[in-house]
Amino acid sequence: MFSALEQYDPQIYELIRQEQARQSGVIRLIPSENYVSKAVMLATGSCLTNKYAEGYPGKRYYEGQQVTDLIETVAIERAKKIFKADHANVQPYSGSVANLAAYNALAHPGDTIMGLLLSSGGHLTHGSKGSITSKIFNAAHYTVDPATGRLDYDEIEKLAEKIHPKIIISGYTAYPREIDFKRFGEIAGKVGAFHVSDIAHISGLVVAGLHPSPVPYADIVATTTHKTLRGPRGGMLLCKEEHAEKVDKAIIPGQQGGPHMHTITAIAVALAEADTVEFIEYAGQIIKNARRLAEKLMEYGFKLMSDGTDNHLILIDLRNKGIPGKKTAKALDRARIVTNFNTIPGDTSSPLNPNGIRIGTPAVTTRGMKEEQMDEIARFIHTVVENLDRESVIEKVNREVLLLCSQFPVPDHFILPGKKIIHPLSTGQM
Ligand SMILES: *Cc1c(COP(=O)(O)O)cnc(C)c1O
Repeated sequence: MFSALEQYDPQIYELIRQEQARQSGVIRLIPSENYVSKAVMLATGSCLTNKYAEGYPGKRYYEGQQVTDLIETVAIERAKKIFKADHANVQPYSGSVANLAAYNALAHPGDTIMGLLLSSGGHLTHGSKGSITSKIFNAAHYTVDPATGRLDYDEIEKLAEKIHPKIIISGYTAYPREIDFKRFGEIAGKVGAFHVSDIAHISGLVVAGLHPSPVPYADIVATTTHKTLRGPRGGMLLCKEEHAEKVDKAIIPGQQGGPHMHTITAIAVALAEADTVEFIEYAGQIIKNARRLAEKLMEYGFKLMSDGTDNHLILIDLRNKGIPGKKTAKALDRARIVTNFNTIPGDTSSPLNPNGIRIGTPAVTTRGMKEEQMDEIARFIHTVVENLDRESVIEKVNREVLLLCSQFPVPDHFILPGKKIIHPLSTGQM
């Protein structure tokens, strides 16, 4: 298969090899990224990409669905089983689209949606200013308490009582602490709002039983399939039976045409993988690694949002170090440590150069790294941050990282044959 690609399109073949070299030769700490299994990769690259299947199993607008109906039904049943949900829709193209469909299922244009502010850790699609969700709906936001970095449920309740939103959104993109979904359900019930929970980041921890599930307390649960869940890029919606028809209609005809059947096939595979003891161990190690990394960073004098983590991610507040997030992220990248700069609650700097760095452990944990390697990674980060302008020091860390990466190879299916490439230093600009 790969040699055919090399033959037909040597330029793209070479670029895929370069990206492989990058993914294996760096420490990937972006908390939304992972490495999928061989089985997920094969299903994603299968002939299911050739098939149109508008509609749902047994109710399609095109013929030739003998196999697609079976595959989508398997994916739906597996999703219902591991999330303990009445109904599942596996067709959303991504987490963003899943969220929009959840709102469209429960609210009308102009209704109020209330989510966490982007700069406090909410997602763009939770009614952020640049997002279409804030143009269709009237967006209101709660924040985290800047003193503790944590959600203040009493404040959220007060705001909900004041503005009476149609939808309250729980679930975040940069929140390192456990979320009380039960309390969100109670607040929504009290003010007559629907509760939409977006577990894009933590769904792998939820299915492993290591974070409370929102499924009993939310009207609709939205998630991506490619973050801690470790499947292909995609989205899913889970809900109670009473909302099933509205959810399905919000996806098609509401927002989408033909589902990406190759992705749905790979989602089915990933859901089976997530239903194993090995996956529970993996999810447990993600959390252990994040805790250890957080502890070590604090020992080095880093200030972390909420002083630690309960899940897979850590937000470093760089204000006490007096260095900007973007410069730090770029220096880490030159040392082969890939992170993203991020706003921190109460950040007064521009989102293009905020005071935080967001990191997480799902990808390094898939490579087999454990607590001992987290100690090394913390030391690398500390060394780079203390030597932002000393290229010789950064170069030394770069070589140490490459050595660590070689001891924890990415899954072997991942390597396309050809001459060995070593990922070059960063040239990225912004
Ligand atoms: C990543 C994320 C999304 C968006 O998912 P995409 O697949 O990138 O569209 C939505 N909500 C939250 C909380 C996320 O973290």
